[in-house]
Amino acid sequence: MPELFIGGKWTAAVDGQVRDIRCPADNTLVATVDEAGPKDAAAAIAAAREAFDQGPWPGTPAAERGRLLLRVADLLEREKDALARAESLDTGKRLVESEYDMDDIANCFRYFGNLTAAGGTDRIVDAGSPEVDSRVVHEPVGVCALITPWNYPLLQTAWKVAPALGAGNTFVLKPSELTPHTAIILMRLLTEAGLPDGAANLILGAGPTAGAPLSEDPRVDLVSFTGGLVTGRRIMAAAAPTVKKVALELGGKNPNIVFADADFDAAVDYALMAIFLHSGQVCSAGARLLVQDELHDRFVDEVVQRARRIPLGGPFDDNARTGPLISAAHRDKVEAYVAAGVAEGAVLRCGGARPDDPALRDGYYYLPTVLDECAPGMSVVTDESFGPVLTVERFRDEEEAVALANDTVYGLAGAVWSQDTGKAQRVASRMRAGTVWINDFHPYVPQAEWGGMKQSGFGRELGPAGLAEYQEAKHIWRNLAATPQRWFE
Ligand code: NAD
Repeated sequence: MPELFIGGKWTAAVDGQVRDIRCPADNTLVATVDEAGPKDAAAAIAAAREAFDQGPWPGTPAAERGRLLLRVADLLEREKDALARAESLDTGKRLVESEYDMDDIANCFRYFGNLTAAGGTDRIVDAGSPEVDSRVVHEPVGVCALITPWNYPLLQTAWKVAPALGAGNTFVLKPSELTPHTAIILMRLLTEAGLPDGAANLILGAGPTAGAPLSEDPRVDLVSFTGGLVTGRRIMAAAAPTVKKVALELGGKNPNIVFADADFDAAVDYALMAIFLHSGQVCSAGARLLVQDELHDRFVDEVVQRARRIPLGGPFDDNARTGPLISAAHRDKVEAYVAAGVAEGAVLRCGGARPDDPALRDGYYYLPTVLDECAPGMSVVTDESFGPVLTVERFRDEEEAVALANDTVYGLAGAVWSQDTGKAQRVASRMRAGTVWINDFHPYVPQAEWGGMKQSGFGRELGPAGLAEYQEAKHIWRNLAATPQRWFE
């Protein structure tokens, strides 16, 4: 069956292009899928436009839209095993992690289903006269282009699809060309749940050919993008001539601040999880460990000891605790950052190489790596390597910790570890990031907004703001007693 989904029909690419999808854990062929180009993107946009302008979805009552999202949540649960397996084959991620993601995805649909059904965003405004009825209503933005990355393929998609549909929009989804399979399954589930034809459209393909037309086309009203900083800048520029609404969820270079009074065992444990989960391919990864001077040696020794023992393996290896990088090109990039860090004076404490286990030879594995004695300005400290690479910097006091934490163009997430709640709270409030954890790392809930400050982007996903992103506020003023004003007499 063809894999592009346009106007309610499964279709092959107009130019007959296809792409092989390979599992990064062992380079085996997962499937060959259709590869969209500009003509397919144009057809998908036309279908979404028609469905928005003439189709039933935007005018469907909010309670009914909400109920559809709740049905999708149930279907996602029913298909959890197939979805998790597909996600792991595309990404190389451990199956258990994909299973957690699928639970989060169903919860995301459930959250936005309930939020949509509850309504309540419209309001009566006091216009200063009993003879005026003044209301602010919230309408869908229109046709949304949803562009997503490969690291959490269906999760990032759910954060966009659920609120976009909840608000009554139609959309064209373009997932990463490396990880298309869960998006394909999602289209089937949306159809099964009863979504009208044309409201959801899927194109698969490369960024410059299938993705770029989405930000340029005047028929698209909003682009919501999750991915890298450089692509985000391109999308923003491409969207400017038609003044599209743009929401950008970009990268991070997230600080994990550990004060000497932190709970040692918990802080070590979470420092490892913060960076080595999914081999560091997490936008909110705790890639910069900032440790207070007096704790530094003992803390880093323990992190290094434990990092050396992390077992690597493919998605279905029960002993593995982390997996491969997404591609050969991405591993090359990570290796180059580590080499640059060492050349600039960082001390390589562990990793810094591919594993020598022959069983892992065909996958894109890279050992958990700790670079100690790093300094601001090193490229491995400033840039997002998006791999299993932890840089360590020392700080003397609270002031220096905050300065180092904020010494980045990014502002996505960060953490502070201390048993002094006042100090932890002070530091958290001074960190310029969209999410800050105190004595924790990585948790999120669909009820709370997620997004970046500075060059980590703008706009918010999840939470009430995640729905508002896909809505236009409209003020309707109704004069109940219009009489001539004689302004020009
Ligand atoms: P990427 O920027 O290379 O690609 C992301 C998506 O954009 C893909 O679908 C790609 O095909 C598409 N694309 C590429 N060029 C395009 C163009 N010119 N026009 C339109 N679309 C285009 O990112 P990636 O490597 O897939 O993902 C990793 C990045 O995503 C990291 O930087 C990570 O931090 C970021 N990320 C951020 C969040 C967040 O919540 N802020 C979450 C996950 C990932």
